[in-house]
Amino acid sequence: MRPFGVYVHVPFCARRCDYCAFATWTDRSGLMGAYVDACVGELAAAALPPASTLFFGGGTPSLLPAAAMASVVAAVSRAPGAEVTVECNPDDVTADLLDAYRAAGVTRVSLGVQSMRPHVLAALGRVHDPAVAVRAARLVAGAGFPSWSVDLIFGAAGESDADWQATVDEVLALGPPHVSAYALTVEAGTPLAGDPARHPDDDVQATRYLAADEALAGAGLASYEVSNWARPGHECRHNLLYWSQGDYRGIGCAAHSHQAGRRWWNVRTPERYIERVLGGQSPEAAGETLAPEDRRREALQLALRTSRGVPAGSFGADDLSELDGLVERRGDRLVLTPAGRLLTNEVAVRLL
Ligand code: SF4
Repeated sequence: MRPFGVYVHVPFCARRCDYCAFATWTDRSGLMGAYVDACVGELAAAALPPASTLFFGGGTPSLLPAAAMASVVAAVSRAPGAEVTVECNPDDVTADLLDAYRAAGVTRVSLGVQSMRPHVLAALGRVHDPAVAVRAARLVAGAGFPSWSVDLIFGAAGESDADWQATVDEVLALGPPHVSAYALTVEAGTPLAGDPARHPDDDVQATRYLAADEALAGAGLASYEVSNWARPGHECRHNLLYWSQGDYRGIGCAAHSHQAGRRWWNVRTPERYIERVLGGQSPEAAGETLAPEDRRREALQLALRTSRGVPAGSFGADDLSELDGLVERRGDRLVLTPAGRLLTNEVAVRLL
């Protein structure tokens, strides 16, 4: 059966992190009940095929009451063996919450740890402290989920190479089968964007990335996408669907969908989303259909980011000699080396 994914956007956070430009709000928790009703309503109206993956992202999905989360999971028709991921803030994780997730059918928890150093978390504008992250990770590891993951960010102001190495080592000691590590990026309109003294340095970011890759690979977590590492069999199937241009449906405000080259997205605010769906209207804001050539190029760009790489046959020796050290041949595929992963966009431009 063709994979099909459902993404549910949860646009609530306890506090906004300084680098965040996502569609999320810190003063709308009073809307949670109506928002969940609207998500269930959108799912019912959509009559979707069984999902092979379901992903709750945000925002902070773990802020939703467990029963509300369970009601949305139950509203999604799922294929046998479906992967069901919930992104969690360490502050929200309790044994009771995880028990409720397991009972609801959640198979994977993604924990937003970001750093194990308090001054780095403060520089990111995060609220939790590292001890809370350790406690949460131990609870998740012991809760019996088939898989779980930790999210990290490198390059915050005040972070040293030693701070980053300690973060990676201390996280690996907790035994996650999957880690995502993202370079801090400056998004327009965020507090970070307005404070150039805190902007990350490209060379520092490159050093941190390579240090993480070495430590993660050494612990048995292989790079399978530029920012993602996993033990065999623990790759995030939902994200693999995105990177292979698969079909998925986004539920909730600001959620994006894709089907066979057509992409569309929902209205941005939770208020408008609730009003539209509970008023019997479509929440779609706008959409576009990619031209076949654009779609082909996008497919290659996405594949290049993954360990699957791109077909080697389409490139001549001249193309490849310019990229010495940045790509390597694996069978009939061309795959980025660790150094190439630092220059993914540049390599894509050269190749594609
Ligand atoms: S917890 Fe995540 S979604 Fe919420 S403000 Fe922070 S980065 Fe943004």
